Amino acid sequence: MQQEAGVDGEALEVWIDQDLCTGDGICVQYAPEVFELDIDGLAYVKSPGDELLQTPGATTPVPLTLLRDVADSAKECPGDCIHVRRVSDSVEVYGPDAE
Ligand code: SF4
Repeated sequence: MQQEAGVDGEALEVWIDQDLCTGDGICVQYAPEVFELDIDGLAYVKSPGDELLQTPGATTPVPLTLLRDVADSAKECPGDCIHVRRVSDSVEVYGPDAE
C-alpha cells in the first residue's frame, strides 16, 4: 500500500467536479497514476487499485510521491474542478475552494 500524502503529515484525497471539466487532459499529463480521461471525454480519479471512479464526488487518496503533481494539476486545471482536501476534516488545501 502506498503511503498517502499530506500537508504537515495529514492524509489528503482528491476529487474532480466533472460538470466543470473541459476534457483537456492536463491532469492526466501531470499524474496519470491518479487521473484518467474516460470515453466520455471527462477526467476521473482512479482508486489505488487503478479502477476508474465514476461516482460524482468520488475521492481517491493522494500518494505522497504524487503530491506535487496532483497539487500542480489542481493549480493548472482550466476548469478549476480538481479539489484536494484533508481526509480528517474535508478542508480543501489545493483547488478553487482552498484558502
Ligand atoms: S485538468 Fe481539469 S479540466 Fe482538464 S481534464 Fe483534468 S479535471 Fe478536466
